[in-house]
Formats: sequence, structure tokens, C-alpha cells
Amino acid sequence: MQRRLLVAGNWKMHGDKAFTTQFIADFVQEFGGEQRSFDALICTPAPYLSHASDAVSAQSAGIAIGAQNVSPHEKGAYTGEISLPMLSDLGCEYVLLGHSERRELYGETDSHVAEKFAACLSAEPSIVPVLCIGESLAEREAGHTENVVERQINAVLTKVGIDGFKGAVIAYEPVWAIGTGKTASPEQAQQVHAFIRGLLAEHDLSIAENIQLLYGGSVKPANAEELFSQKDIDGGLIGGASLQVESFVGICKAAQKLV
Ligand code: PEP
Repeated sequence: MQRRLLVAGNWKMHGDKAFTTQFIADFVQEFGGEQRSFDALICTPAPYLSHASDAVSAQSAGIAIGAQNVSPHEKGAYTGEISLPMLSDLGCEYVLLGHSERRELYGETDSHVAEKFAACLSAEPSIVPVLCIGESLAEREAGHTENVVERQINAVLTKVGIDGFKGAVIAYEPVWAIGTGKTASPEQAQQVHAFIRGLLAEHDLSIAENIQLLYGGSVKPANAEELFSQKDIDGGLIGGASLQVESFVGICKAAQKLV
């Protein structure tokens, strides 16, 4: 089964308008007229979503725009929150959910994440949820990796059922590999990806085979090809290396090679 690769950048709380414009222009310079065999996505800070989607349209850059968080509520007295209709209005097609920084620093629980996931599916137009899951170092060392990702997925499955995963994306990001320079080996990552796909396959084989499972955690141009060539890895969620267009492009080139 040949799934299309997705290379997604998570800019976290970095960048400004000028950086966004330049990044998109430089990306187009590299990949402009070329036929692409992968999908590209950048998740900018919320204030720059509109600017990014305008720049992508103006330059026909063929990059999707994503947010890094969203409220599960459609509207109302939720000071500081951003709704799904607002994201759509800004040209957003994807949203990251349950990134480990949100879970750790902002107390997002499995059930908050499941609520947001469900809201993405019922929004009009719907937005693709990118469900981030992964174990901490202590959990890995205690041999609990599979239990943790299973718990994180089950929280969403219980809320939306297996059909909710049709068209969704899952990013497996071992917390110990995020921003640390430590990457899971391709074998370690593949093992967990196969486990995740197997979990979904217990409910629906076709959804399990079609879903894009990204790996995240210190992906860079030097390790992207080996990671992305694993059977169950369908691209990456890239933090630090998405902040320099050269390294993001380097990772995209690795994806482009692996048709
Ligand atoms: C991330 O924040 O999702 C991430 C994977 O970061 P990094 O690539 O810097 O490890």
C-alpha cells in the first residue's frame, strides 16, 4: 500500500511576518514547478496563519497551513481561545492536537484532546486533526511505550469511533526525542508505528492502511530518508529543523526521493 508522505513543520512560538513570507518564497524557489510526490504543511503560530495562507496562495506554493491548537468550542465566552471556524476562515486545513508541550505545559489530558478531535470532525468545513501521541523517557524505560500510545489512541477512539480516524493524521512523537537531538532509531520508530497501525486495524483494516502516521522527534535532513523509508512511517512532524528553510527543504527532498 503506497501512502503519500506528509512533511509537516511545527514552528511552535517562533517566526514573524517577514520570516513567514521569506520561508514560503524560498520553498517555492526549490519546489515551485516540480511535480511533488509528497504533501507539505506548515503549522505557524496563530497570529501568522492568515499571512501564511495568503502568501501560499499568492505564490501558488502548494503548502497546506495548519494551527498548533484549537478550542473544542464553536464560539462563546472563552477568552484567549481560537475556534475551528476561525481557523477555517484563516485558510487552515490542519490542526495539531495534544502535542506533548500542550500536554505537559498546559495540562491537556487525553479527554481534552479527544474533545478537540471530535470538534474537528464536526466543524464545517472540517479540519484535519493531527493527533500527537508518544511516551516519555521514564515510560519507555519502564517498558510502557505501547500502553501509553494505546491509552492515548483509545481516548479518541472511545469518543469518535474508528470512522473518526478516516482522513485524520497521527504523529508518533516520543517525548524524549522532541527537541533533544535524540532521534528514535528507524527500527524503534517503525516498531511503534506498526503497533499503532495494528491497533487501528483491529477496528477497520482499510482506515488503518490508509491513515498517514508521521514520526516526530529530531528529524533532520540526515536522518529523514531512513526514517521515511520504513514501511509504516508516512512522513514527519518537524520542529527545530522546520525553522530553517534549508533543512525543511532537505527533509522534503528526502520525501520526494521516496516515491
Ligand atoms: C515537535 O515539536 O513536534 C518536534 C518533533 O520537534 P523537534 O523536531 O525539534 O524534535
